[in-house]
Amino acid sequence: MSNLVPVTVAYGDGIGPEIMEASLHIIKEAGARIQTEVIEIGEKVYLRGNTAGIEPSAWESLRRTKVFYKAPITTPQGGGFKSLNVTTRKMLGLYANVRPCVSYHPFVKTKHPNMNLVIVRENEEDCYAGMEYQLSDTVMECLKIITRPGSERIMRYAFEYALQHNRKKVTCFMKDNIMKMTDGLFHKIFDEIGAEYPTIEKEHWIVDIGAAKMADTPEAFDVIVMPNLYGDILSDVAAQIAGSVGLAGSANIGSQCAMFEAIHGSAPRRANQNLANPTGLLLGGVLMLVHLNQPDIAERVHNAWMCTMEDGIHTYDIYKEGTSKQKVGTKEFAQAVVARLGKTPHTLKAAHYSAAPQRTRQEAKRPAVKVALEGVDVYVAWPSLDTDKLAAAARKAIGDGLELIMIDNRGVKVWPEGMPETLCTDAYRCRFASKNGTSSKQVVALLNRVLDQGIEIVKTENLRTFDGQPGYTLAQGQ
Ligand code: NAD
Repeated sequence: MSNLVPVTVAYGDGIGPEIMEASLHIIKEAGARIQTEVIEIGEKVYLRGNTAGIEPSAWESLRRTKVFYKAPITTPQGGGFKSLNVTTRKMLGLYANVRPCVSYHPFVKTKHPNMNLVIVRENEEDCYAGMEYQLSDTVMECLKIITRPGSERIMRYAFEYALQHNRKKVTCFMKDNIMKMTDGLFHKIFDEIGAEYPTIEKEHWIVDIGAAKMADTPEAFDVIVMPNLYGDILSDVAAQIAGSVGLAGSANIGSQCAMFEAIHGSAPRRANQNLANPTGLLLGGVLMLVHLNQPDIAERVHNAWMCTMEDGIHTYDIYKEGTSKQKVGTKEFAQAVVARLGKTPHTLKAAHYSAAPQRTRQEAKRPAVKVALEGVDVYVAWPSLDTDKLAAAARKAIGDGLELIMIDNRGVKVWPEGMPETLCTDAYRCRFASKNGTSSKQVVALLNRVLDQGIEIVKTENLRTFDGQPGYTLAQGQ
């Protein structure tokens, strides 16, 4: 039986085919125990009228091999084409995005010569769940979803990654001073899971000041775990300040499948000229080799690449008169790396990878929580913007112990005793609650009475408590 691991490969668009050929050449010459099977994705597939950019037969290969090595693709301009990256991430359940951001000073110019951090970004939740609504003529809403299971597995991944890669510290970025429930949960689970890793230092930063610190002193960080949106933004910042977005690779990891790629795009203007730097995709390949439990090969490739950097053999994008010695094309760069397989760098810190630890973990069962209903938030469209009139109408709907507690606009209380300075839009929220609790039937009856008052209901959110703790926040000023 062959000991080669099957890997699905897509050559992509623009510079994709050239950098994929170069990267695979290096990886195979290094002795990677992989067997590639090629699928077609991207521009050609989109232009054939497939709005997803990927054929059903390609999914068959991906589901079978469970490992995807992907070159960048071009998404055609114009509406109707879905992002292939988002589709792949969602279809394959790739919940963790891992992006090492390392500076290769003095061979690649950077203001941060000692930077060596890894961003672990939650990839499926947060504002990226794609749950958006128009509440009224003038108000849009995006739901930010943070879940316990989603946060648990990203935290677990971040700490396991730190252990495997001999990293000393995991930092959590979030903003739970404002988003007390969503980012609060993310933070809480960081603390809970972190407690299972006593040898790893833990710290947390509010994302704004944490981002400022990372941009200023990135060497202060090791592994940083973040929810989706902050991670999306800050992983590009981190890659850029390490020297160049062109050098970074990334891994998208799921419980079954994984995808490895460069973080840059298909650079169509550079295509077919033997110019592009294959490094981002090659280092994505290094992450893949570690994932495939071939750390020896990952090490050979990464070290040979560093030797090439040290010898000043550079593609046009990082070539600098003085530091660089030879400007080369994609193919020649790959040949230079192959020629250095087996060597270790002198100035740069040599790469060292180890096999993934095999752990089986029994998740603790959580005790059942007691849920109680206290009331309901009724979101309404009220084009006249006359708050007092809305309050008068809403108060006519009260009953069964359900009182009108307050009305807010964009989260700021406007009734009772609103401030004239508050900007009001045509979307309001009326909070009804009962001191003694209520029932779903009583809420439905209330909603009917609200409708009878000529109030247009847009949506509702139940006000519930979980083991006596409110499952909702107060409005500002409430
Ligand atoms: P890009 O990353 O392709 O290019 C940005 C700049 O960096 C260009 O000047 C380009 O020449 C340079 N560059 C990028 N990679 C390089 C490399 N390996 N070697 C040398 N120079 C390199 O970004 P863009 O121009 O905004 O996007 C081009 C296309 O790529 C778009 O269709 C976009 O949708 C797509 N894209 C795809 C992915 C992906 O598949 N993962 C990611 C981002 C963008």
